[in-house]
Amino acid sequence: AAMRETRTKKTKTVCTFCGVGCSFEVWTKGREILKIEPVEQAPVNSISTCIKGKFGWDFVNSNQRLTSPLIRKGDAFVEASWDEALDLIAKKMGQIRDTHGSNALGFISSSKMTNEENYLMQKLARQVFGTNNVDNCSRYCQSPASWGLQQTGGIGGDSGTIEDIAAAGLVILVGCSPAEGHPVLATRIKRAHKLHGQKLVTFDLRKHEMAERSDLFVRPKQGTDYVWLAAVTKYIIDQGWHDEAFIHQHVNGFDAYSELLESFTLEFAEKETGISKETLIQVATMVHEADGTAICWGMGVTQNVAGSHTSGAIANLLLVTGNMARKGAGAFPLRGHNNVQGASDMGTMPNIFPGYQPVTDGDIRAKFEKAYGVSIQAQPGYDNIQMLEAIERGELRGMYIAGEDMAWVDANSNHTQEMLKNVEFLVVQEIFLTTTAQFADVILPGTPSLEKDGTFTNTERRVQRLYKALEPLGDSKPDWEIFMELARRLGFAWNYAHPREIFAEMASLTPFFSGCNYDGLADWGSFHWGSPDGENTPVLYLNGFNFPDKKARFALFEYVAPVEFPEEFDLTLDNGRLLEQFHEGNLTGKVAGIQDKLPEVFVEISRELAEQRGVETGTFVRLESPYGAVKLKAIVTDRVQGQTVYMPMHSSSHETAVNMLTGNIFDVKTHTPAYKQAKVRMQVLKAK
Ligand code: SF4
Repeated sequence: AAMRETRTKKTKTVCTFCGVGCSFEVWTKGREILKIEPVEQAPVNSISTCIKGKFGWDFVNSNQRLTSPLIRKGDAFVEASWDEALDLIAKKMGQIRDTHGSNALGFISSSKMTNEENYLMQKLARQVFGTNNVDNCSRYCQSPASWGLQQTGGIGGDSGTIEDIAAAGLVILVGCSPAEGHPVLATRIKRAHKLHGQKLVTFDLRKHEMAERSDLFVRPKQGTDYVWLAAVTKYIIDQGWHDEAFIHQHVNGFDAYSELLESFTLEFAEKETGISKETLIQVATMVHEADGTAICWGMGVTQNVAGSHTSGAIANLLLVTGNMARKGAGAFPLRGHNNVQGASDMGTMPNIFPGYQPVTDGDIRAKFEKAYGVSIQAQPGYDNIQMLEAIERGELRGMYIAGEDMAWVDANSNHTQEMLKNVEFLVVQEIFLTTTAQFADVILPGTPSLEKDGTFTNTERRVQRLYKALEPLGDSKPDWEIFMELARRLGFAWNYAHPREIFAEMASLTPFFSGCNYDGLADWGSFHWGSPDGENTPVLYLNGFNFPDKKARFALFEYVAPVEFPEEFDLTLDNGRLLEQFHEGNLTGKVAGIQDKLPEVFVEISRELAEQRGVETGTFVRLESPYGAVKLKAIVTDRVQGQTVYMPMHSSSHETAVNMLTGNIFDVKTHTPAYKQAKVRMQVLKAK
C-alpha cells in the first residue's frame, strides 16, 4: 500500500457539477487529488473546463464528509454499523408499508447520482416497496421544459448537441445565464459569436455577461415570456415567413395554433411584456433571416406558473420556422446538474419507467412486472410537491431522500422544513450532514462521483462513463451498493457485481438505450439516446418526430399570467447562480479557494432603487416576502433595473437563503415551484 501511494494515478471522470458534461482525467496520489487534466479526446469540452470542474474538488476529502451510518437517538446522532442501519430501515419502512400501504412511502432521487443508481432508486420504490411515489430534482427546475418538448416533438431533451448551438446562425437565450451556469457551453457561443458571425439575443431580467455580449438584450416583465414568443410567432406567420413545406410535412395542428395566436398582437404583447413593437419585429426578423435558430432556456422560463406552456411556445416558434429536426438549430433547455437529464431518463419520476415509458400503459407495465416479478400500480405516484402535501395530510409517513437537500432547494424553506419534521421515519443518504439530513432518523453515507463507477447523461442526452478514481472514504459506500443491500434485506435478490450489469438490465427494458452498453462507452466513448430503435442520435427527429405518425404537434396551451401579490410587496425578486458556486453550496462551499472569493451572500439592487431608498453597496437590508424574511448586504449594480432585485441561490442559512422568500406557487402542468415569481419588500437596516 505504501508503494501504491507514491504512484500518480490518472482516471477518466465526468464533471459532477453542471449539465454541460465535461470529462477529464483526474490525477490522484493515494487520496490526494493532484489536478484535473482536460484532454483533447473529451467529446464535449476537449481541453476546456471552468473553475468548478478544474478546482472544485476539495469537498471530496473534506473532514466534514459522512463516513459512517448514523442513527438518531433523541436529539443526537450516534454512529452505527451498516447492518444496524440497514436492518432498522428495512424494519421501519417495511412496517409502514404493511400497516399503511405502499403509498405511505416516498422516494426522492438525486441528479448527482449515476444513471445506474437512479435506475435502482426507481426499482427500489416500484419493485421492493410497491409504490410509484418516486421523483427527482428536475421537479424543481426543468420538468416544464421536458413537458413542453414531449408535447410537441415527443422527447423531453435537447433536440441537438452543443455543436448545433455553436453552428446556429442565431442563438436566443431566454431566462438563462450560461456564462455563470454552463460556462464551457457559453465559451462555444462566445467563440461562434465573435469569430463566425453568429447573432446572439438575450431575454432576461438581469444584464448578465452573455446579455452584455448580445447583439440585442431585451428585458421582459417577469413571467411574460410566453407572450413575446407568441407575438413573434404570429408576426412571422402574418408576414408569410413561416416554413410552410416543413409544417405541412412534419407538424399537426397549424390551423388550431394560428387561431390560438389571434389575440397575441404586437400591441397586446407590448403592453403585457413591456417590450416595444419595434423590438418584437426586430426579433422576428432576426429569426427569419438566420440560417438556423437555436433557443436555449433555463429557469427564468421554467420556474414560473406558465413554465410548461412557455416551453411549448418555444417549441412552437421553432416548428413554425422549420428549426427542428435539422442540424445547427433547435430547442435547448440547459440542464443544471450534471445528471439531471439522466435521473429522469432512468425513471425516477412518478409517472414513468426508464426511457419515459408511461406507468399507465398496460403493455409497458406488464413488461416491468415480468422483469421485476411483482405487480406495479397503474396509477402514477406523487411528485416531490405532492409528497410534502401528503405528509401534511398524515398520509405519507416514511421517506427516503438520496442526495437532495430539500430543506433548502424546495421553495418556501420554512414550510418544507416543517414537513420534514413531521415525517414519521426519514432516511437521508448523503455525503454531508446537510440541513435535510438533520431531520433524518437514519443517515447513510454515500459517495461522490470520484469514488464510483457508472455513467452520467449531460444536457445533450449524451451518456458518458466515469471511472472510480478513489476508494470510498471511511465506511461510506457507493449509492448503488447501498440500494442493493437494502433490497436484499427485504427479500429481493439483487446481485449486481458492477454498475455495468445494472446498465445492461436497464437497457434491456428501455428501447432508447437498447443500443448502448459499457463497451461502447469505454474511455472517451459516448452515446446520445433519442431514437426508439436505440441508435446513437445526436440530433433528434431526423427520421421523424417521436409519435406514431412521425409528426410533431403544435402545443395548444394558453398563456398563464403571473400571480398577483399584495401591493406592499413592491419589488420583484429574481434569483439564480454565480459562476463560482453550485446550488445551495454544499459542495463548492467546502472548497477554500472558491469560498474565499465569495464570503457572503448579497442582494443586487438597481441604481434607481438605491437612490430612492438611500442604499449604498454594503448597506444591510431586510427583505420580506409573504413566506419569510432574510437579512443581507446590498450591492448596487447596473445588472438589474428599476424595482427588480437579484439574489444568488447559493446559501443554506436561515439568515440569507433565497428560499426563505419563495412561496407555494407552481407551474400549472408540472408542479415545478415558481421560484422566479417572488415579490418582496425591503427595509433598510443600516449603512455599512
Ligand atoms: Fe463542470 Fe460544467 Fe464547468 Fe464543464 S462547464 S467543468 S461540466 S461545471
